[in-house]
Amino acid sequence: MQRLNANRREFLSTTTSAALAAGLATGGFFSETARASSNRKLGVALVGLGNLSTNQIAPALAKTKHCQLAAIVTGTPAKEKTWSEKYGVKQDHIYNYERFDKIASDDTVDLVYVVLPNSMHHEFTIRAAKAGKHVLCEKPMANTSQECREMIAACQAAQRMLAIGYRCQFEPHHLKMMELAKGKSFGDIRMIEAGFGFKIGDPTQWRLKRELAGGGALMDVGIYALQACRGITGEEPIAITAQETKTDAKKFAEVDESITWLMQFASGTQAYCSTSYNFNGLNRVQAFGSDGYIKLDPAFSYSGIRMETSKEKIDLGQVDHFAAELDDFAQCILEKRPSKVSGEEGLKDLLAIEAIYRSIDQRKTIAVDKV
Ligand code: NAD
Repeated sequence: MQRLNANRREFLSTTTSAALAAGLATGGFFSETARASSNRKLGVALVGLGNLSTNQIAPALAKTKHCQLAAIVTGTPAKEKTWSEKYGVKQDHIYNYERFDKIASDDTVDLVYVVLPNSMHHEFTIRAAKAGKHVLCEKPMANTSQECREMIAACQAAQRMLAIGYRCQFEPHHLKMMELAKGKSFGDIRMIEAGFGFKIGDPTQWRLKRELAGGGALMDVGIYALQACRGITGEEPIAITAQETKTDAKKFAEVDESITWLMQFASGTQAYCSTSYNFNGLNRVQAFGSDGYIKLDPAFSYSGIRMETSKEKIDLGQVDHFAAELDDFAQCILEKRPSKVSGEEGLKDLLAIEAIYRSIDQRKTIAVDKV
């Protein structure tokens, strides 16, 4: 609650008076409120039409209450035809990366969803904000904390909202786990174990190139374990000790293969986390309280999350994470309230990730930088 209130204060202090003053001139929040009353869905431009956009986000958009696919941005001409036939996107609303800035005059687009390789999040978030669009940016927010700060500043300067694609923050079992931890249903959380990994295929893909990915398993999927620990404790880690293992120095020449790390929180909670690009099956989080445990296993898949506590199994049904995330962001825009998965949240994860990499490099415990 404290964190949400802090975000709310930051958001209000940086946007409200300026946005209200500027709203009439820019057609910003006021026009969105008008759209809400006319029940028009917010138009989404998808930037990057790779696996995630194709197999998860586009189908999810069709399930949302408050969003619709309005435009696509791609560097692959063949995809223009496929997507326009499948989703009815007209030529006027199809952009490539060079022409992207012309989206500023596309009134059908309210928000831009950046689904590109990690290193491109920074550039396209800033270009989208300058084009007057709200931005939903996939995780990890950027390659560095400095880039995160620049993205936040650009969105603030343009009075546009920024959210990060932390889909698990909209998944009912994750929400229940955070609620149970916060309510001390199982006492004080003393220890968390969390891990997410998978065996990565194609050795030529961008995920294995430092310049495009920023890092390896940690940036890609370890971030889910980190997010879960921060969500369960409601705190930021203060100190981190990490170790890396490489069994395939050729494939993982540029990025990390497997990392384990320990996080210390101010309340005394410790978290033991792991991630890997070299085996399947690591996909769980368990919080041990002084009076019992809460567990998700699998924890981070797109569906099929299973929950149990030391008292019972809990089944809250399944939701489409991306549809829930998109609808929440649309509602935040329409109701002029901050997203709980704000740019600051993305920045906090990058600060912890940087501490993990520093700990590996320096072989010692590292104090995590503050926002
Ligand atoms: P992908 O490789 O399938 O797609 C990447 C897209 O970017 C492709 O359309 C590709 O053509 C385009 N692209 C533009 N410039 C490129 C370049 N220089 N090199 C490579 N591709 C380039 O990747 P993806 O799995 O769709 O991941 C995209 C983003 O989404 C990443 O940031 C990733 O971390 C994130 N992601 C999030 C989730 C989630 O659950 N939230 C899941 C998967 C991926």
